[in-house]
Amino acid sequence: MCEKQDQAWLEDSLEKNDEEVFKIIRKEKERQRSGLELIASENFASAAVLQALGSCLNNKYSEGYPGVRYYGGAEHIDELERLCQKRAREVFKLDADKWSVNVQPYSGSPANFAVFTAIVQPHGRIMGLDLPDGGHLTHGFMTDKKKVSATSIFFESMPYKVHQDTGYIDYDRLAENAKLFKPKVIIAGVSCYSRHLDYKRMREIADENNAYLMADMAHISGLVAAGIVPSPFEHCDIVTTTTHKTLRGPRSGMIFCRKGVRKVTAAGKEEMYNLEKPINEAVFPGLQGGPHNHAIGGVAVALKQAMTEEFIADQKQTIANARHMAKLLLDRGFNVVTGGTDNHLMLVNLKNKGTDGNRADKTLEAIGIACNKNSCPGDTSALRPSGLRLGTPALTSRGFKEQDFDKVVHLIDRAVQLTLDIQNSLEPKAPFKDFKDKLYKDPKFVEEVKALKGEVSAFASRFPMPGLPTL
Ligand SMILES: *Cc1c(COP(=O)(O)O)cnc(C)c1O
Repeated sequence: MCEKQDQAWLEDSLEKNDEEVFKIIRKEKERQRSGLELIASENFASAAVLQALGSCLNNKYSEGYPGVRYYGGAEHIDELERLCQKRAREVFKLDADKWSVNVQPYSGSPANFAVFTAIVQPHGRIMGLDLPDGGHLTHGFMTDKKKVSATSIFFESMPYKVHQDTGYIDYDRLAENAKLFKPKVIIAGVSCYSRHLDYKRMREIADENNAYLMADMAHISGLVAAGIVPSPFEHCDIVTTTTHKTLRGPRSGMIFCRKGVRKVTAAGKEEMYNLEKPINEAVFPGLQGGPHNHAIGGVAVALKQAMTEEFIADQKQTIANARHMAKLLLDRGFNVVTGGTDNHLMLVNLKNKGTDGNRADKTLEAIGIACNKNSCPGDTSALRPSGLRLGTPALTSRGFKEQDFDKVVHLIDRAVQLTLDIQNSLEPKAPFKDFKDKLYKDPKFVEEVKALKGEVSAFASRFPMPGLPTL
């Protein structure tokens, strides 16, 4: 009896046990509920996903792989991990004889680092789309002054770029440079690029240089799962992904790689892939310890959901919403880079409007609209990015349809107008700090910010927010 009472606090609800954290989570939930989420990499995980994530799976250590663990009591974890792998292949329509999948990476960045660790020697060469051009940090990002990403410290990276005038990837220059640089891996993957990738062309470039072609479909994996954008699996040797963006699962990562015959030489000799073992060993024990089984449980749930009609309809709606949003922005004189979108996001260059990403992003944040400032093709200063990255997955998960984006774009337009009004009240070269002071402190603008924020909140609150009821 006495012992039981001593342990009672371990069963208290979060609200009772830790009011401070509980209150912060409630505030964050309210922010998510009453705001407009346009961050292209974010989404609202379902209640079932969050339940798996908050389950006892969190307690279990299971270093190793199904059937070969360094910890006892892993029989149910084995079943879970195998189920997750099976669903991962099903979702992306992969043959178990041809594709291996590792569901243990903690997230997208560790997944990419594991691939390079597995197949690129230290100081071996990689080529990815440059970060300012829409690529990801982990594709070898560095600047003139600094090797920023570990993927540029431990490996030698040469970026490829988009055309400054069109915003489309310059595949010809990639082909030319790959011939000189001879990378071990070419990465086909983007964080801010609104057009389909030409995997076929990239396959040809990889083949010319005996390089592996790796797709990083982190942003678009939900769209790929729904079969509504070109699948990278057709042309790539390796595919990495996060699971929490369009796929709408928990924060985690996966690596798919081919196995079996890589190619047949002119002499008729079969050359086999050697990816599965090195990649598995790079994930564990190379870079990670125990897998996050609660995350793997959540990924399994998300993958099952990704095979439903409802999910496919949502992904289609995500693209329909993005197309509609891009059109509305173009109609209002915004410069949508590449003139539109094929996927769930768009990049808007604000230069012609007389402002930049930093300032517009601050105003939008102040009124409850979340997005990212982003550099645009032709930008010279990384400190003053010209544009905004806007994405539709999160709002689509809340049930937004095309006509709802009429209102969203109207609100964005007013925020940009307010940004210009504030700028016009300042000296032309006034620093960013002065802008923020006006936005947050000048009574003339504070009132309009408040009114717009109220409008955003009233509008957003009309839509349900997927997730658990209280937290
Ligand atoms: C988001 C993203 C990642 C990294 O994912 P994290 O889970 O944040 O580590 C990797 N690659 C691309 C293309 C991404 O967009």
